[in-house]
Amino acid sequence: MELTTELLDKWMAIFAEKIEANKAYLSDLDTPIGDGDHGNNMARGMSAVEEALQTKKPADLTSALKLVAMSLISKVGGASGPLYGTAFLEMAKLSNSETDLARLTEAALLGIKKRGGAEPGDKTMVDVWSAVVPALAKGNLTNDLIQEAVESTKPMQAKKGRASYLGERSIGHLDPGSVSSGYLFTALLEAEA
Ligand code: ADP
Ligand code: MG
Ligand code: MG
Repeated sequence: MELTTELLDKWMAIFAEKIEANKAYLSDLDTPIGDGDHGNNMARGMSAVEEALQTKKPADLTSALKLVAMSLISKVGGASGPLYGTAFLEMAKLSNSETDLARLTEAALLGIKKRGGAEPGDKTMVDVWSAVVPALAKGNLTNDLIQEAVESTKPMQAKKGRASYLGERSIGHLDPGSVSSGYLFTALLEAEA
């Protein structure tokens, strides 16, 4: 499936709604294994994304993706801001020559891994992204697959980010960044439908 500016607009609008609706839940998830701000961070970032897209009306896909990236980097903060920002920046760079969503998200995932140093199994958003990217390539991404990837972080011990400071006590909690990344991809499925 191809990413267009129209699809990106829809995708970001639905993602922003999901983040806003689940802001308290995301921050609650971040309380026992982090600093309780993930929902607030993401909501601040996504309202900046929506405002930027609506007021600046970027002329093409590359500028739109860059605008999303810059808004996230400057407004989300924390560990997740630069990581989500990098993801959209990598998509922006590739979008000059490639608009296939599987290829774009693959580049995004590589960027997240390079920036944050996390691998699958480390209880970070990488766990969701690395389940979703191959499914997008095969054309079999479903809500169930996304949900399973999100749930898979619960029994993991965190190896990166704040939750890793807790060692074994990080086990038994969902990773907040994986839950928000889950919303990102369910939003994509809804935007495409
Ligand atoms: P902070 O931990 O700085 O308060 P957030 O609460 O906004 O930032 O985001 C936390 C989320 O960021 C985690 O749940 C995890 O998914 C993600 N994260 C943290 N560090 C990394 C990393 N090195 N690589 C990938 N994702 C990470
Ligand atoms: Mg936090
Ligand atoms: Mg924080």
